[in-house]
Amino acid sequence: MKNILELNNVNVSFHTFAGEVKAVRGVNLHLEKGESLAIVGESGSGKSVTSKSIMRLLPEKTSEIKEGEILFEGRDLTKLSNREMEKIRGSEISMIFQDPMTSLNPTMTVGKQIMEGLRKHQNLSKNEAKERAINLLKLVGIPNPELRINEYPHQFSGGMRQRVVIAIALACNPKVLIADEPTTALDVTIQAQILDLMRDLQQKTGTAIILITHDLGVVANLSQRVAVMYGGTIVETGTTDEVFYNPKHPYTWGLLSSMPKLNSADKELMAIPGTPPNLLNPPKGCPFAARCPYAMQVCVDNMPDVTDVTSTHKTACWLLDERAPQVEPPEAALV
Ligand code: SF4
Ligand code: MG
Repeated sequence: MKNILELNNVNVSFHTFAGEVKAVRGVNLHLEKGESLAIVGESGSGKSVTSKSIMRLLPEKTSEIKEGEILFEGRDLTKLSNREMEKIRGSEISMIFQDPMTSLNPTMTVGKQIMEGLRKHQNLSKNEAKERAINLLKLVGIPNPELRINEYPHQFSGGMRQRVVIAIALACNPKVLIADEPTTALDVTIQAQILDLMRDLQQKTGTAIILITHDLGVVANLSQRVAVMYGGTIVETGTTDEVFYNPKHPYTWGLLSSMPKLNSADKELMAIPGTPPNLLNPPKGCPFAARCPYAMQVCVDNMPDVTDVTSTHKTACWLLDERAPQVEPPEAALV
């Protein structure tokens, strides 16, 4: 089996006082063993909801995976009991979040926090767990791990704390690591260091990574493939090269145009005007139609089909229909 994780037609809704919010609609995604996939989109696009539904971390009372399957090594996670899911969470699939301070326990030494998962999932003795914890801190680049293992989270800088969080996430050698905006709370230089570290670790450990981010710039360095989400749907997927150098969806063009370019002063940064659709009452056609400069009547009336650009590159846009007018991406979207 090449795919370690497969999402087939996943639909997730939230039940609110105002009605049903269809946060994720018909998402299809796969993750191969050891690869790194980025899910990119603005806040509210459904990327965090997608990742939380993989981990089954959505609030039970107010949300629901309405349809679809989430296959992890062929087992449908949506069908597992909470107890079965407990065993998978943190050991086979683990997750790191944006703010390291909220995922660490301020009253416990970092060593204890790393050892906790090891003792829970791997049945290690105290000494074995301690040794492994020291090695993990070394692996994530924390100097003097033998001493620092006895320190508390507040004794670490923001970047070092995120390294600790990564060490905890990797403690049980998970097959999949989901990183939700792992560098957003950090300074730019520290961000780059953490991304380098993650790329390194992926190569060393073979863990497959799902990187969730609103920042396309972060993706280029770390991920082999990209899925672009908008309005709860996936609008474009492809290898990182395909999405960066041959983007086909106007929303992806918008994201690329709003990304700072290294080597050009002449291309101005463009924000995408307008706001994302209200998912209480999602548009019946293309979710991007209200903001898309190329929208046609068909876009408003009908959801576009997914078109194969190549065997690895797919997009859901009416412009790919042979009857549509030929449109070139704007200059600012060219990387
Ligand atoms: Fe724009 Fe239509 Fe393509 Fe949607 S389907 S992105 S509205 S051109
Ligand atoms: Mg989010």
